[in-house]
Amino acid sequence: MKLKKQAKMTETSQSFIAKSSIKAADLEHRRKINFNIGKYNAAVPKGKEQFADLHLARERAKNLKWRAIETLDQQLEEFELNFSKRGGKVIWAETTEQALDEILKICKEKNCKTLVKSKSMVTEEIHLNEALEKNGIESIETDLGEYIQQLDGEPPYHIVTPAMHKSKEDVARLFNKKLGTPVTLTPTELTQVARKILREKYVEAEVGVTGANFIISDIGAIAVTENEGNARLSCSFPKTHIVVVGIEKMIPTLADLGMMWPLLATYGTGQKITVYNTIVTGPRQENETDGPDEMYVILLDNGRTNILQNPKQRESLYCIRCGACLNACPVYKNIGGHSYGTTYSGPIGSVITPNLKGMEDFKHLSYASSLCGNCTEVCSVKINLHELLLENRHESVEEGLTSFTERMAWKIWKTASMRRGLMNMGSGNLKNKLVNGLFKGWKEHRSNLDFSAKTFNQMWKERFKK
Ligand code: SF4
Repeated sequence: MKLKKQAKMTETSQSFIAKSSIKAADLEHRRKINFNIGKYNAAVPKGKEQFADLHLARERAKNLKWRAIETLDQQLEEFELNFSKRGGKVIWAETTEQALDEILKICKEKNCKTLVKSKSMVTEEIHLNEALEKNGIESIETDLGEYIQQLDGEPPYHIVTPAMHKSKEDVARLFNKKLGTPVTLTPTELTQVARKILREKYVEAEVGVTGANFIISDIGAIAVTENEGNARLSCSFPKTHIVVVGIEKMIPTLADLGMMWPLLATYGTGQKITVYNTIVTGPRQENETDGPDEMYVILLDNGRTNILQNPKQRESLYCIRCGACLNACPVYKNIGGHSYGTTYSGPIGSVITPNLKGMEDFKHLSYASSLCGNCTEVCSVKINLHELLLENRHESVEEGLTSFTERMAWKIWKTASMRRGLMNMGSGNLKNKLVNGLFKGWKEHRSNLDFSAKTFNQMWKERFKK
């Protein structure tokens, strides 16, 4: 059993290294990413101007999320109570399988043939589209970036901008191939093509699925933030609205949105406020003309309580998925979102994936970092991301997930470096040969360790002789 697990771990980490090596050498990929992240970098400082004290705002947002996560059990129950009062139904799903079963059950009851979906990373996490397809239900992504990715048969590349790695020419070629439109179409014309197709789907669809950026416990509502209006249409046109949301998206009060919305907008895209911000408190009420007949909120755990029970890792549940840490990460910018082979990429993905999906299979992501700390620097809610990457490494060693050779190598390193006499033995050349031979696996993707010709003691003595 142990052997099988080890082999699987090698498979995921080897795939990561293989994909990363190809992407890191792909200069065209780098050009597109630098172009798009360059536009993001130019916009963010303008968004930040709206805060009188940005540092304080981020601190407050962190405190707010701290409170929500520390009292998560109570907040979730309060949400359920308040949301149910207006006819909404809450479903608790511990795993992907439970969430999918519930969604498929509802779709079956509603005789659903077509489903419209707005952008939601949590539905990517449970591979909802594949499950719907297997059950004969057409699922249409209605966010333009997600629609492009769906047409191309690719998962999102980035948690905020799913098609960030595609140029406008790439999209025109894709539309030409899949929809038969001329390759000369401009971005505006391409958007019009997608708009026309999607509009018809909203009318056809029996069920609409959205995620939620926030769950609000005091009023029993969910809040959705978007720039295209597609989420609003997905939750109001079809007769049934299903929300799939991770339990960590909790905020205690409606008033908290006053802090969270501008932060999410600025750190996500550089906007002061995102174009459409919708609060949904339940299905259509008797005196209302618009909205679905039924509304379900699926509260998904799927490993989040593993993180919650770990006091050090708990902080990663504060994440509001603004994507700023991805845009700032030198590793992400070189290897791109798809190399990670996970739903959540970049620094936050490397922190949470090993805890959500298993340290054995995904611990390698925590090593894919220079620990420069840029992610922590830019995080909208001040999560100590680089420290959590280190914590993952620490926990994986504690769990014995390192090879015998690696453990021995570090043991010898520790013994030698704690004894000055041993460090002073042998020439620099000899030590280079010995150490680089000993750390063969470790330095497979790193440059050789290089000892100086003289030891520290020798240099120290020489300095004081002068
Ligand atoms: S960890 Fe911070 S910067 Fe990264 S996506 Fe989450 S909130 Fe944004």
